[in-house]
Parts: sequence; structure tokens; C-alpha cells
Amino acid sequence: MRYPDSMARSAEYLRLALPLMTRQRTALHPISYAVWYEFVSGRNPGLMQAVRERTRDGSVLEEDDTAALYREHLAEPLLDPEDARRVSEGLSRVLDNMASTAAEAGDRTARFDQSLLEWSRQLLDESTLNARAREQLQSLMEETRQMRQAMSTLQQRLDASHGEIAALREEVSLARSEALVDALTGLANRRAFERRLASCLRADEAPASPQEPSLCLVLGDIDFFKRVNDSYGHSFGDQVLRAVAQSMQRMISEPGLAARVGGEEFALLLPDTPLLQARQLAEQLRTAIASSSIRRANGEKAAERVTLSLGVTQLAPGESANDFFERADRALYASKRSGRNCVTVLAARAA
Ligand code: GH3
Ligand code: MG
Ligand code: MG
Repeated sequence: MRYPDSMARSAEYLRLALPLMTRQRTALHPISYAVWYEFVSGRNPGLMQAVRERTRDGSVLEEDDTAALYREHLAEPLLDPEDARRVSEGLSRVLDNMASTAAEAGDRTARFDQSLLEWSRQLLDESTLNARAREQLQSLMEETRQMRQAMSTLQQRLDASHGEIAALREEVSLARSEALVDALTGLANRRAFERRLASCLRADEAPASPQEPSLCLVLGDIDFFKRVNDSYGHSFGDQVLRAVAQSMQRMISEPGLAARVGGEEFALLLPDTPLLQARQLAEQLRTAIASSSIRRANGEKAAERVTLSLGVTQLAPGESANDFFERADRALYASKRSGRNCVTVLAARAA
């Protein structure tokens, strides 16, 4: 069970969650309560960090933020897509085996049927059989025919199940990719980002050579985005998010990853990239966004220019994902404090 807490403990969580919940600009619905319940119970470190980031400097959670927190940190798919893939492949293998066994049994039955037919023809021709023996022979032949028929039906059904499994596998792989993609921008989502970061860190534990270029992280946050939403409407805000995502996607190539890690927060994960190069990339992104004007849907007039504040850092040897991310975040907030629309670099040793 996800919440094994006793009545007394859950009552304590309720007492702690209520004042935090009522401080936000989010209605008091079950989704909001689930977020704050997990927060105060301390069971979900990823969520806790994300909430702290979003409520820093006295910011409060809007409906969008709460929904995104719930989606990214609470709403797990019922079955992990990776497990689902393994199950469907296992099932497929079982069906394959059954189908080949059925085919083999079908062949044998056909051969037996053929021999029986020839043998009975000879017997019947010799007309030495009495009426009862004839009857028995004919019923034996009929039963064999029915068995052959049943085998072929079984084979057809197995083939059909096979088709269904293939379709299921297709669906699972689609669900898997959807679970890792941000629906609004098409970028990798927070879950995909965290997975990739974890796998980069595992690779970093056993570097091919100690001189290998490092892993860098760029975090970007749109400046005064709330104002953009307030002045031009939420759907224009969404358009801005998509435009920023496109610029990031254009700028990055494998094995780098561009992700939307929060409402208006983005990340570039840059394996094999020296800090200086990561900084240049961040600067390039900042200039690209600041110099573009995003047209409103009706194309009539250009919106107020949008800018991005960025923070850049480099992984320290043996460092945790949390510490790495937090330093990039501190660099980002240093950019906010020094007037926004700029890039701040925090080297690992300055942590
Ligand atoms: P700062 O320069 O300090 O970052 O200010 P800000 O206004 O960008 O930051 P704040 O955190 O106050 O506001 C972020 C806003 O982003 C609030 C939230 O409603 C909005 N937002 C979050 N997700 C989405 C989304 O998917 N679409 C739209 N249109 N807005 C979103
Ligand atoms: Mg933000
Ligand atoms: Mg912002």
C-alpha cells in the first residue's frame, strides 16, 4: 500500500499539510492534498526538492504547478513500462513455444491420419471385415479427422493471440515513450531527465579514462513568466514554452539531453562537455531566446520579449545527483538575483 501510516500519524500529517496547502493559490482538492501529504511525510525526496524549489522566495503554487508536481512525482504508471515490456515478451515466447508444439502435433496427426486412411482402405477392400469392425474403423477415422480439425483451430487461435500480443507490445512501447516525454513541448520530461542523469552518474563512477571531459548541467528558467501568462493568457504562455523548447532542441545533439524539468524550467544535460563549452552553449541559448520575438497565435503583434536566466555547473567526482542539480540551481538563482537574462557558472570547487 502506498500509505501504510497509522490513524495517529496520518492525522499528524493532515495537521502539518493543511496550513501549507492553504497558503498556495491552488484549490483544496485531493490532488493538492496528495502533494502536501507526501511532502510533510518526507516519503518522496524528489517531490520535496521540487516543492522547495518552486516555493522558494515566498512563491506559491498555482494550479499548474500543483498538477505538474502530482504528474511528475506521484502519478506513476500502474505498471512500469519496462516490466510490461518484459511480461509481454515472456508471453510472446510462451505462445511461440505453444504454437510450434501445436504445429508439430498437427503434423504428426496428419501423418497418422494418412497412414490410418491407407490401412483402412486396404482392410475395407479385402472385405474380410465384419460389419462391427467396419463401424469401429469408420468411427476411429472420424475421431482422427476431428482431432486434426481441433489442432488446426488451436493453431489458428495461437496465431491470433500472437497478433494481439504484438499489438500490445506496440502499445506498451508507445506508453513507455509517452511516459518519458513532456506532452506540451515534446522534450524529455523530468522523469526522463532524472533517469538519464542517474545513468550518466553510473557511467561516471567507472570512467574510461580519468582525463575524460566532464558532465555538465545547464538549468534555465524563464524570467517573469507569470507576467507573460497574466498579460497574454495561458495559451500564449504555452506557446512560449514550446518556442523555448524548440530552441533548446535545435541546440543539442546526442548524447546531450534537453528536458523540461518544471513548469517554466528547462535543463540541458551535457555528457563529455567541458565547463567552458557548456557555458558557451548556455550563452548561445540565452541570446537566441532574448533576440527572438514570439508571435501571438493571431500573428498580429509580437509579444513582449521573453528572456531566460541560466545556471551552469560541472559534476564533481563522486558527487550525488542531488548535489549536482542543486549547485546548477544555485547558479540559476544567482542569475535571477543579478538582474535575470544572464548566465552564471558555479564550478564544482565553489560548492
Ligand atoms: P522568475 O523570473 O523569478 O522566474 O519569475 P516567474 O514569474 O517566471 O516565476 P514564478 O515561479 O512566480 O511563476 C512561474 C509561472 O509559470 C507560474 C505558473 O502558473 C506558470 N506555469 C507553470 N507551468 C505552466 C504551463 O504549463 N503553462 C503555462 N502557460 N504556464 C505555466
Ligand atoms: Mg521557476
Ligand atoms: Mg520563472
